[in-house]
Amino acid sequence: MLHIGCHLSPSAGLARMAENAVSIGADTFQFFARNPRGSKAKAIDPADAAAMASRLRENGFAPVLVHAPYTLNPCSADPKVVEFAHMAMADDLNRLALMGVDLYNLHPGSHVGQGTDVGVEKTAALLNALLTESFSGVVLLETMAGQGSEIGGTFEQIRAIIDRVERKDRLGVCLDTCHVFAAGYDIAADPDAVLTEFDRVIGLERLRYVHLNDSMFGCGNHKDRHAAIGAGMIGCEGIRRIVKHPALRSLPFCLETPHESLAEYAEEIALVRRLADED
Ligand SMILES: [Zn+2]
Ligand SMILES: [Zn+2]
Repeated sequence: MLHIGCHLSPSAGLARMAENAVSIGADTFQFFARNPRGSKAKAIDPADAAAMASRLRENGFAPVLVHAPYTLNPCSADPKVVEFAHMAMADDLNRLALMGVDLYNLHPGSHVGQGTDVGVEKTAALLNALLTESFSGVVLLETMAGQGSEIGGTFEQIRAIIDRVERKDRLGVCLDTCHVFAAGYDIAADPDAVLTEFDRVIGLERLRYVHLNDSMFGCGNHKDRHAAIGAGMIGCEGIRRIVKHPALRSLPFCLETPHESLAEYAEEIALVRRLADED
């Protein structure tokens, strides 16, 4: 069976978030471990974390994912921003262990005019500083749309970061369908060609998670604008090809689509499950 869920909020507690996931037919999800725009992080209640872990286990969940805050940019030209990235991510990785979660999703960052090579070096420096001997989780580098000066808009850039990191065994990749499509990889029309290219450049064994989003803009537009499933340029047919692809279908999928309510996500999860069951 397909593993699918959506981005959820932990504001009412970790166990409650897991219950919300179950209530909408999800068996994976993603969340922020701190305010996505700021540096504030609530203390983790061990009983709440343990309750989440048992809900996930009882309900046969696929791995869940913590997403790094959007403000985290390890490639910034501003040393204060880089320092914040190191501080916030170090704290997040400690919290990951306390929550019993293994996967942490990171945007490689934006080089803001310093050039791709500098960006790649700075992201690798962050990972080399934080992926210490004691870290037992896996950091996923997210494929990006290549909007502005974003690093990660090509598979080669993701590979270049991995090549520079010492603890490669702690690294994976999260493929975002909207982002790769916007970056110019036509995953809607020919997922096989895109995944063959992914395998050639990065290696499919690194692929651990999929962000399943439709795209408001066309392939190669470099615009990171997510659309609801079937409401964008990837379309239901493209999404069907993606979720049925043999290299992807056993991975966890997370929706990051623009909806306000759990009811809307429940409907979209049901829609994707139907698409995955179609011939
Ligand atoms: Zn992301
Ligand atoms: Zn994403």
